[in-house]
Amino acid sequence: MPSVRPERCGRGEILRNSSGMNIAKLTFNPFQENTYVLWDDSGEAVVIDAGNYTEKETEALRKFVEEKGLKPVMAVNTHGHVDHMLGVASIKDIYGIPFALHPEDRFLVDSAAVHGAMYGFKVERVPTVDIELADGGEVVFGNTKLQVIHTPGHTPGHVCLYEPQEKILFSGDTIFRESIGRTDLPGGNYGWIMRSIIDRLLPLGEEVAMYPGHGQSSTLGHEMLYNPFITEVMEGDVRPE
Ligand SMILES: [Zn+2]
Ligand SMILES: [Zn+2]
Repeated sequence: MPSVRPERCGRGEILRNSSGMNIAKLTFNPFQENTYVLWDDSGEAVVIDAGNYTEKETEALRKFVEEKGLKPVMAVNTHGHVDHMLGVASIKDIYGIPFALHPEDRFLVDSAAVHGAMYGFKVERVPTVDIELADGGEVVFGNTKLQVIHTPGHTPGHVCLYEPQEKILFSGDTIFRESIGRTDLPGGNYGWIMRSIIDRLLPLGEEVAMYPGHGQSSTLGHEMLYNPFITEVMEGDVRPE
């Protein structure tokens, strides 16, 4: 991972500020969910997993985008869990942008109000899905193309987004720094999540920078060595079905 001095811009923490690609992280809602704003030299941006919940959080995101002079063109989600989707309806309104999600997570959008209530969230509006993500597809903005990698397991329609030139992976809740996403929620499956990680993500290479849906950034190389869920499978102690 390139060393970047953390820089704050309002509430946004700039994680990466390189020639082609800029990444800011804003951590929102009681689940401490990472919302990423990603932009390139064109000024066009995408918002990944908009989890802004309170008015203050929405304002922080809006202000960040304004201060940086960005033009959001899409709200795109790694998956449909409510903590990752709380802000999508508001940013769709503010910027008039489409929302992209994998169709196998649509059931989570449909049940967001009920699920939200279980966790104490008031979900007043659920966003409509405008673009269906598919494995092997692309999310395009400015001069940037993100590859869509379907990684079921945490949810059936979970995707990771990968920028191959700078080797940047948005891993959502599939893999965290030294942990993995829960598989005990509706549609979750441990065998699938491990297969997604081992067959689809690790082959991208150890130098890949990883930006997860919760917690700190990492690299796939770090995870190969220190993620206990990966090492126990690699060492043959556990075999996912
Ligand atoms: Zn989740
Ligand atoms: Zn989450």
